[in-house]
Amino acid sequence: MNTPLIDSISGTRGIVGDNLDPRIATEIGIAFGTYLGKGPLIVGGDTRTSHDMLKNAVIAGLLAMGTDVIDIGRVLTPTVQQMIRKFNAKGGIVITASHNPIIWNGIKLMNQTGSFLSESEFQIYQDIRKHKDFTLKNWESIGKLTHYEYAIQDHIDHILSVIDTTAIQTANLNVLIDPNNGAGCLANGLLLDRLNIRYDMINAEPNGIFGHNPEPLKENLTEIMEIMKNDTSYDIGFIQDADADRLVILDENGHFIGEDYSLAFCVDQILGDCKDTDKKVVVNLSTSSVVEYIAKKHNASITYTKIGETHVTQELKKQHAQVGGEGNGGVIYPAVGWGRDSLVGIVIALKHLAEKKQTVSQIIATYPTYVMLREKVTLNTRDDVFPFLEKVKATFPEAQFNLEDGVKAILKDAWVQVRPSNTEPIARIFIEAASMEIAKILFLKLANVQ
Ligand code: MG
Repeated sequence: MNTPLIDSISGTRGIVGDNLDPRIATEIGIAFGTYLGKGPLIVGGDTRTSHDMLKNAVIAGLLAMGTDVIDIGRVLTPTVQQMIRKFNAKGGIVITASHNPIIWNGIKLMNQTGSFLSESEFQIYQDIRKHKDFTLKNWESIGKLTHYEYAIQDHIDHILSVIDTTAIQTANLNVLIDPNNGAGCLANGLLLDRLNIRYDMINAEPNGIFGHNPEPLKENLTEIMEIMKNDTSYDIGFIQDADADRLVILDENGHFIGEDYSLAFCVDQILGDCKDTDKKVVVNLSTSSVVEYIAKKHNASITYTKIGETHVTQELKKQHAQVGGEGNGGVIYPAVGWGRDSLVGIVIALKHLAEKKQTVSQIIATYPTYVMLREKVTLNTRDDVFPFLEKVKATFPEAQFNLEDGVKAILKDAWVQVRPSNTEPIARIFIEAASMEIAKILFLKLANVQ
């Protein structure tokens, strides 16, 4: 074993054949089964080649504890979340490493609302896992395993029962989509056919052999960008990460509009459609101010949470907010479900185009321009981060501060967030400003603080 496993509230991730093996997966199944009891539990995962190995090991652990399991096979992460609600299950497990490269896989845990565990739920589960106080069931009490094949179909049916797609059906839109041989391959055709959309799909084999690095960052998307630059017949481009919870949009010219702007594009449509007088948006603290601009445009309030889908979801529930998400291209639309869902993002983005009757670039041109600089500063020890955070505060005395997740200094037309890494002696720095020159000047101010 060379690399330490990454354990967090979002689940356990590791490298297959190195630190992530069936023993770990079974142990997680045993611990989560102990926590959830009889179940049932929904288990599914993305298209990675280690899907069967890890999923079957997790299921073995769950059954050993008397937990009934419904195996829904290769699916999108939000499909597991949807099936938890459909089957009134006690929770779910997703076998995925999301946007991580092909050598990785992971095990994500969900609660009975179909969202990631809360901090307190995670703590109880972690204690069970650590103390290994397990009572295995005998022959008559072990769990039962059933299989369900129609989960993706049901997921799509549910989305289309919530969102009115009349405008899309007659808009004659043409789409290029890249699910990168991940879970999106299994759903995109079914969804787009139902929307009466013309489309082409690249990297469309659900074999988990990714065509490019699965993190939907600009530098990983050259293939689809190049196709769209040379073929002007497409109205919009979509890219999903490997488990298809995140969505990134390209405009009609193949320009990468950015993960935050992809979220903003969808939030714009959802708030525009929303008839409530009390409109609310919830995003995490690293999300671009462009979403705040959209919220203001629709007279909606905006709340910022700590980073992590579970924090956004819990705040959405608390506030009964109509929409939320994360600036990494994760749209959460509570009317459909409690998780980031690229299929929801696709439907909402197409609806936006169909109703606005403008191109993506024309719509984006109405939004203010922000650029994000992501940097890190190396410290001598992890403890050095705390005096560094204090110095950050002193560097920007004119700012307003949010201290929920590291330090976020909110300046006029810019913000700077500094967060300690959980694992390394580094401080991660996010700077958003109207131009890269301004962002770099702000970064230099910080770097000189050390
Ligand atoms: Mg993902």
